[in-house]
Amino acid sequence: MHYADVYVDVSATRTDQSYQYLIPEELSGMIVPGSRVRVPFGYRSVTGYVIGLSDELQVDPEKLRDIESVENEALGSDGQLLSLAAWMHANYGGTMSQALRCVLPSAKKQPPRLRKIIHLAADRQVLSDELAVLLKRSRHSLGRERLIRELLESPDIPWDEATGRLSVSSAVIRDLEKKGLISIESIRSYRDPLGRMRSSDSNWTIPTLNPAQRAIANDFAGEFDSGIRRTYLIHGVTGSGKTEVYMEMMEHVIRQGRSVIFLIPEIALTYQTVMRLYLRFSDKVSILHSRMSPGERYDQLERARSGDIRIIVGPRSALFTPFSDIGLIIIDEEHESSYKSEAIPRYHARETAIERARLSGASVVLGSATPAVESYYESETGHYKRYDLPERATASSLPDVEIVDLRAELNAGNRSIISRRLAALLEERLDRGEQSMLFLNRRGMAGFVSCRACGEVIKCPHCDVSLSLHGSQRLVCHYCGYTQPMINACPKCGSKYIGTMKLGTEKVESVIRDMFPKARTLRMDADTTKGREGHSKIIETFADHGADILIGTQMIVKGHDFSDVSLMGILTADISLNASDHKSSERTFQLLTQACGRAGRRGQNAVAVIQTYQPEHFAVVSAAGGDYRGFYKREISYRKLLSYPPFGHILFIEITSKNKDQAERMGRYLAEILRSRSENAQISDPADCSIARINDVYRKQIVIRSASYARLVELKDIADRAVRDDTAPRGADIWFDFDQ
Ligand code: ADP
Ligand code: ZN
Ligand code: ZN
Repeated sequence: MHYADVYVDVSATRTDQSYQYLIPEELSGMIVPGSRVRVPFGYRSVTGYVIGLSDELQVDPEKLRDIESVENEALGSDGQLLSLAAWMHANYGGTMSQALRCVLPSAKKQPPRLRKIIHLAADRQVLSDELAVLLKRSRHSLGRERLIRELLESPDIPWDEATGRLSVSSAVIRDLEKKGLISIESIRSYRDPLGRMRSSDSNWTIPTLNPAQRAIANDFAGEFDSGIRRTYLIHGVTGSGKTEVYMEMMEHVIRQGRSVIFLIPEIALTYQTVMRLYLRFSDKVSILHSRMSPGERYDQLERARSGDIRIIVGPRSALFTPFSDIGLIIIDEEHESSYKSEAIPRYHARETAIERARLSGASVVLGSATPAVESYYESETGHYKRYDLPERATASSLPDVEIVDLRAELNAGNRSIISRRLAALLEERLDRGEQSMLFLNRRGMAGFVSCRACGEVIKCPHCDVSLSLHGSQRLVCHYCGYTQPMINACPKCGSKYIGTMKLGTEKVESVIRDMFPKARTLRMDADTTKGREGHSKIIETFADHGADILIGTQMIVKGHDFSDVSLMGILTADISLNASDHKSSERTFQLLTQACGRAGRRGQNAVAVIQTYQPEHFAVVSAAGGDYRGFYKREISYRKLLSYPPFGHILFIEITSKNKDQAERMGRYLAEILRSRSENAQISDPADCSIARINDVYRKQIVIRSASYARLVELKDIADRAVRDDTAPRGADIWFDFDQ
C-alpha cells in the first residue's frame, strides 16, 4: 500500500474530512488503520489517524505530501479512543463521525451534581448562646432548634439530611448562614448507579478457589507480571466458577495500578454478577447500562477518567470507557450476539476489545461455556491461550438431558406443543412441589418452512441454508437470491403438514393452564418485562417460589441461578436451527446448552428435555451430551467445506431507499463496479434482504465472500467511493456488515 487516508483532528467540530498522504519508503509496513501519525497540514505539522490504505492516488500528485512519522508513545485515553475510532471506521465502514460518536459519547458535558454540606462556622459557645436565646422565647422554630442541637453534636451536616431527616426549612438554614453561624459548601458528587446496592449489607465471603480455578488465576497473573499481553479464552461449563476467576484476575490487575473493563451481555440479566463484583470491589467498581440517565452515564465516565473507579461493568459500549491505563478487558459470555452492534459502525466487541487492548497494552479474557466457533478456532490454532474448566465448581451436577422426537409425537396423535414425556415430568414436579421452566425459542422465527411429519426443512439447492417464506407463496434464499414457489407437500415424505412454525409464550401458558389447572404459572417475555424493574420482579417472584412454572423466551436461559428448578423443558429446538444463516447450528447449540445449564444448580436430580423435529441433528445431540468439542469438530469441518468464517469471510452490503427503482439501480451499479474488481472474491447479484422492506424503506443486499478479510475491507472502500462518485445513481444509501 502506497497511500494512507489520514483523518486530521484539526477542528473541534469533528467533521469527516480525511486527506490522502504518501507513505514514505522508510515507514512502509509500519502504518496500519488506526495508526497515529504526524502529517504536514498547511504550514503546520499535526496529529492524524490513519483510517484507510490504498494503492490508488486520489489527489493531484502535485499536492501529495509525505507522512512525517508514526507516533508510538503511550496515548492518553482520548488518543486511544480516536485511534480506535479510526480503526473501526476502516474495518467496519460508516463515516468517521459515526465512529467518533460511537467511541466518544461523553463529548456532551453534563452539569455536575453538587452536594451541599453545612459546616459550623462559629464558636460552639456562640451557638449555645443562640440556642439559649431561642429556648427563652415562648414560640420558636423547632427546625431551628433541631439544627442547632445537631450542629453542637457534629459540626458538618449534609444539606439533604438537614432538610430531610431533621426537616429544617432552607429559609432557616440560610438565615443561620447570614448570621455567620454556619457556612455552606458545595462539593461535586457523582451520580452513583450502585447506590441502592451499596446500602445493602451482606455476609458474603470470597470463596477459596478450587485447584483448577487457582491454576488459571496464577498462570494469568504470572504472565501479566512478566509483561505478556495476549487474548485468553476460558472455556468453562455453566457454573464452573468463571466469574470467580475473572474477579481474581481483576484484583491482580488493579493491584498493579491498572484498570479493568468487564463486558457482560445485558445488565438487567446479570444483576447477580454485578452484586458479586460490588461486594468484592465496593466503590472501585461502577456500571454502565442503557437505562441510565445521561447525567449518570456522564458521571461514571468522569469517574473512570479521573481514576475514582478502576473497574467498569457494562454492555459492549463500556469498551469506550475513558480509562487511560487499562490492563485487562474481560468479555463474559463472549459468544453472545449482543456483542455485535446493530448500529453503524457495526463493530464486534471481541475484535474491537482486542484492538483497544493493543492500544493500551492490556490483555483480553474471553469466557464462555459455549465459545463462538471463531474464538475456539483461535484457541486451537494457538492465537488465543485457552483455559478449560470442565467441572462445576460446587457439588451440583449438570442435569440429565433427554431428547424427545416430536415427529413420533405427531405420529402417535399428539399435536400439542407439550410431549407426553414432558407432561409426565411436569406433573411429577408439581406433585413434589418443585419448580420447572419452559423455554420457548423464538429466535429466527422469520418464516422457515418445514414438514411436521418427517422434520424435513426446505433448503436452498445452492447454499445449504433454509429458504424463507415471503408472503404466502414464495420461498427465497437470503444468501444467493434463489427463489421458488411455495410447495404444498413435503418433497421427502409427501405429507401435507407443511408450513411455518408460529408459537407464542401466551399460547404456551394457556396450554399449560388447560393441562394443569392448579399450577401457578409465570411468564417472562418482551411483554411482561417492560419497564425498569420488569425483569427483577419476575425473577424475584419465581425465586421466592411464587410460581411453579416459569414460561419464557431467551431471557429465562440467560444468567439467573434458580437453584430449585429441577426441570427445564425446551419446547422446540428447531426454530433457531433453521434460521437461514451459517450461524444457526452454533446458536442452537449455545442456546440448548445454556438452557440445560439452568436446571439443577443445587444438585438435585434435575432433568432437561429437548423437544425437536430433528433429534439426530449434531447440534441437538452434542448439546444434550454436553459435548462442546464434538459440536465444534463437526461445525468447523462444515465451515471449512463451505468457506464460512473463520475460513472465509462475508461482507454484506445493504442498499436502502424509499424508492424501489432507486434501490435496484444502485444495486446494479455497485454490483457492476465490484465485479470489475472481483479478484479473490465472489460477488452475488443484488437480492432482497431477508426483510425486503422495513418502514417503507426498500432493502437490497450484495453478498461478497472472500478468504481474506482484508480483501473485503478493500471492496468495502471501493463501494464506498463508488457511491460518492458523480456518476452514481441517487437516492439510495449503503451500509456494511461483516460476517454477521
Ligand atoms: P460461571 O461464571 O462459570 O457460571 P460462577 O463463578 O458464577 O460460574 O460460579 C457458580 C457458582 O459456584 C456460584 O454460586 C459461585 O459462588 C460458586 N463458586 C464458584 N467458585 C467456587 C469455589 N471455588 N468454591 C465455592 N463456590 C464456588
Ligand atoms: Zn416430510
Ligand atoms: Zn441460496
